[in-house]
Amino acid sequence: ALERYASIRDLKAEALCGTTVSLHMNAGLMADLPSLKGSGAEGVGLFRTELQFLIRNKMPKRAELSALYARVMDSADGKRVAFRTLDIGSDKVLSYMKPNDEPNPAMGWRAIRVGLDKPGVLRMQLQALIRAANGRPLSVMFPFIAQPSEFRTARAEFDKAMERERILGHPLPETVEVGAMLETPSLAWAPDSFFHEVDFLSVGGNDLKQFYFAADRENERVRRRYDTLDVSFMSFLDHILARARSAGTPVSFCGEDAGRPMEALCLAALGFRTLSMRPASVGPVKHLIRHCNLETLRSVIDESRAAGDESVRPAVTKWLTSQGW
Ligand code: PEP
Ligand code: MG
Repeated sequence: ALERYASIRDLKAEALCGTTVSLHMNAGLMADLPSLKGSGAEGVGLFRTELQFLIRNKMPKRAELSALYARVMDSADGKRVAFRTLDIGSDKVLSYMKPNDEPNPAMGWRAIRVGLDKPGVLRMQLQALIRAANGRPLSVMFPFIAQPSEFRTARAEFDKAMERERILGHPLPETVEVGAMLETPSLAWAPDSFFHEVDFLSVGGNDLKQFYFAADRENERVRRRYDTLDVSFMSFLDHILARARSAGTPVSFCGEDAGRPMEALCLAALGFRTLSMRPASVGPVKHLIRHCNLETLRSVIDESRAAGDESVRPAVTKWLTSQGW
């Protein structure tokens, strides 16, 4: 699949209306990094750090993590990598941590909640990331932020780690960006100040959709029951985009939907200018965006909404068909 799109690999995802969408890839293991060149992605929009914890049978040491993150940054060769701190709990359980028997792990003690309650591992990870950057730019984001105070506390941990490194005389990152994943609906209505204080936001569409529709993303019976192109969800995304826009905060979308061409196209038409997806999706998504007019699609979407459709999918499908797709 990567070869098929090789001819557009170095071209931008510029739509017919002139809008350019920045396409990034999701990664989590060293083995994913070579795809950065092959796919034509502009960077790693989501680096799931828990994968490297999950493939081990004991807790990695700080020096080991730092060497690993340095290799990730080396392989990215100056392209941006947004490191997401550990998102364990839920479906991702570490064999070397005490198991928690929870009735609803997806809504349980996971991600930043673990990081804030037991900050040892979070601190180690932040320090490893700062050391790995070794004077290069660093982007870090915290998963599953449900309210601003969680972000503030996590960011304070990051600032403390920076201060510690400074006192030790270690080189600090050239630039630092600290962001939050928006994957719980509550965060979309956080006070304005929150949207101003994050350096960037990344919508975790998989979790956000699961909590928006109250439909377990792991449950085969319900996981495809609600459409991402449902007008209710689209209005919700509109709201998130408007809030980020008024604060001047960059916002990307990094769930699985960003890698589905029709969904990606609609996300771009709504206003997302950065999408992060599995590497094999970058080519197909870019190909489609380059052949579509996002402004026209936006009016197709708006007309479908105005007509009272439940989902804009039929209207978008019809439009794409009329365009020869
Ligand atoms: C998401 O929730 O959309 C996301 C990108 O994170 P994960 O799939 O790792 O939960
Ligand atoms: Mg998530």
